[in-house]
Amino acid sequence: MMTNEDTLRWLERVADVLHENREYLTQLDSAIGDADHGINMDRGFTAVRDKFSAMASMDIATQMRTVGSTLVSTVGGASGPLYGTAFLRAGGAAAGKTELAHADVVAMLDAFLGGIVARGKAQPGEKTMVDALTPALAAAKQALTANASLAEITARAAAAAEEGMKATIPMLATKGRASYLGERSIGHQDPGATSSWLMLRSLAEVCANM
Ligand code: ADP
Ligand code: MG
Repeated sequence: MMTNEDTLRWLERVADVLHENREYLTQLDSAIGDADHGINMDRGFTAVRDKFSAMASMDIATQMRTVGSTLVSTVGGASGPLYGTAFLRAGGAAAGKTELAHADVVAMLDAFLGGIVARGKAQPGEKTMVDALTPALAAAKQALTANASLAEITARAAAAAEEGMKATIPMLATKGRASYLGERSIGHQDPGATSSWLMLRSLAEVCANM
C-alpha cells in the first residue's frame, strides 16, 4: 500500500535525484542531443518542489496531476510534455483512491508509460525513455502476478529499467533530436531512458520496506 505521504516522499526523492544528476543527464544529452536534459528535468522538478507543501494535503491523483501540469508548463524540451502527460495519466489511474494497492501502483506505471507513448508515438527500440519504461512495466506486471511484495515489484521494475537504459547504447535513434544524428547516435546512452530509470529507482527506494 502507498499512501499520499508515500507518493509525496517518492516525488521529493525524484526531485533530489534529478537535481543530483543534472550534470550527468545533460552530459548524456550533449552526446546525442542539445545538452539540456538535466537542465530541463531539474527546472521542472524545482517548480514541482515549490508545490510540495501544498501537495501534503492532496490525494494521490491530484498530486500526480499537479506534477504533470507543472512539467508541461515549465519544461520547454520534448521531455516536458512527455513526462507531463505521463504524470497526468498516472493521476487518472489513481483517481478516487486514498491508498494504492500493489495492483494500483502497477496500473499507475502502465498509465505513465501509456501517456509517453500516446504523446511521443515511440515504439521500443527507438532509443527513448520508452526503452526503459517498457521492460520495467513488464517486470512489474510479472512480479504482481507472482504475488510479490511492493518492494519486490518496484525493485524488479527498477532493475529492468536499468537494463533497458543500458540497452539503448547500441540503438539507432529514430525519434526526437537524437534521430537527427542518424548512425552517429549509436554508442551513446539515451538521456530520457536514464531519467526514467532514476525515477523508478527512487520509487523502489521509497517502497523498500513495503
Ligand atoms: P529535447 O530533445 O527537446 O532537448 P530533452 O533533452 O529534455 O528534450 O529530452 C530528450 C529525451 O526525450 C530523449 O533522450 C528521449 O528519451 C526522449 N524523447 C524524445 N522524443 C521522444 C518520443 N517521441 N517519445 C519518447 N521519448 C522521446
Ligand atoms: Mg535535449
